[in-house]
Amino acid sequence: MTGVVVAVDGPAGTGKSSVSRGLARGLGARYLDTGAMYRIVTLAILRAGIDPEDQTAVGEAAQTVQLSVGYDPDEDRCYLDGEDVSSEIRGEAVTRAVSAVSSVPAVRARMVDLQRSLAAGQDSIVVEGRDIGTVVLPDADVKIFLTASAETRAQRRNDQNVAAGLPDDYAGVLADVRRRDHLDSTRAVSPLRAADDAVIVDTSAMTEPEVIDHLLKLVRQRSEAVR
Ligand code: C5P
Repeated sequence: MTGVVVAVDGPAGTGKSSVSRGLARGLGARYLDTGAMYRIVTLAILRAGIDPEDQTAVGEAAQTVQLSVGYDPDEDRCYLDGEDVSSEIRGEAVTRAVSAVSSVPAVRARMVDLQRSLAAGQDSIVVEGRDIGTVVLPDADVKIFLTASAETRAQRRNDQNVAAGLPDDYAGVLADVRRRDHLDSTRAVSPLRAADDAVIVDTSAMTEPEVIDHLLKLVRQRSEAVR
């Protein structure tokens, strides 16, 4: 029997990464973080001294970026030209520029190709991103779209920042959440939206273990139904 393919989409701050990793762990599946791929490309663009808003230059430079990511939900390892850039891609400079870089059609075309080949294979996989159910893997067995209010998402992100030793800045984080939501949902190519056949899960009033448990049940039900 072939494995199950699960697409998990949604905006920043819904707990999508932790939940997708937990889901992959629970299913014994591989895990693919497509946001990390856009972040690696963004880091390459910044290191090359290219203006992230220069769509032509970004699109060209992105074609030759040598990136790799792992499949292990317990290991957050990302490489650019063989260098471990796992921490750097989560930093402020990359976070600020990634929406601009990921809005370039030539960047998306290359990432989508790469993501499809990485997701191929017999083993189950949980693929996390923004356009997985709509564009990358429209035939995924189960599509999940996570949502939560902007305030909830900003509160979670701010709590994470404070725990990581960054300044307490709820208002700034909320503004950034809204800015990224707007950019991601209004861009011309692959705007963030739920696939018509996605199950929408609002995580505002749920704890992380509750969300994972809920999704595990959902995937088990659905994957039995599709076979
Ligand atoms: O998930 P994460 O916050 O790391 O994603 C970083 C950025 O990459 C998002 O804000 C979005 O602009 C972009 N992205 C995307 N399509 C995906 C995954 C991420 O455009 N499938």
